[in-house]
Amino acid sequence: MSDILDAADQFAQPVLELIDINQVYGVGDAAVHALRGINLSVYSGDYVSIMGPSGSGKSTLMNLLGCLDIASSGTYRLAGHDVAELTENELARVRNKEIGFVFQSFNLVPRLTALSNVELPLVYAGVRRAERRQRALEALEQVGLGHRANHQPQELSGGQQQRVAIARALVTSPTLVLADEPTGNLDSSSTDEILAIFDHLANQGRTIVIITHEEHVADRTHRVLAISDGLIVRDTAELAVAR
Ligand code: ADP
Repeated sequence: MSDILDAADQFAQPVLELIDINQVYGVGDAAVHALRGINLSVYSGDYVSIMGPSGSGKSTLMNLLGCLDIASSGTYRLAGHDVAELTENELARVRNKEIGFVFQSFNLVPRLTALSNVELPLVYAGVRRAERRQRALEALEQVGLGHRANHQPQELSGGQQQRVAIARALVTSPTLVLADEPTGNLDSSSTDEILAIFDHLANQGRTIVIITHEEHVADRTHRVLAISDGLIVRDTAELAVAR
């Protein structure tokens, strides 16, 4: 039975698909080849980390995955959209609808309550106030912070602020949660708290990609990609298929 399910999975449409992606900064002698032919498919429910040392191309890849930048060449499809073919407005809409971002530095708006911070993506999506409130509260409850809804970020610990940021990422029910060094600014107990939330979301079937340079973070995920010098040099999913 599980073989049949595995086979069916192989034909499922990927949530995101990169085909021969190259990213070059600058021109001529000054050109830097930050990504050199990346091929990658991530499927619904995947829990993936992308690991690599400083300068390996992680931020460049994150910016492409998050539709914050367009590749020099190659194809990126996100939820079936070819990103290079979208206008600026369409790209902004796809980014808001399909991706929930979690950043190292939380990026919460300081003088807004946790609830208002979580509501923000829904404001941009044009959702009405009453529905916004309800969905934002539900998202905060999902990360165990319903009781802190009316607190401002500076009244919360780092771990709590990152939980608010995760709630903000979840509130639009995005296709993909994309986290960039989400525990990079946290102590070890807050780190455990945040990783437990990602584990829980993965168990619920969320598609999650975490960019990290920390092995203990990558170890939590179900699939680890190693990037070096702009190339994917290891993919544990391929090792699993090979076995
Ligand atoms: P990482 O996030 O793994 O540290 P980056 O994606 O930031 O790696 O960088 C990959 C390579 O691209 C590095 O050699 C870096 O110096 C170069 N690079 C990144 N951004 C730019 C830019 N805007 N202009 C020129 N070179 C860049």
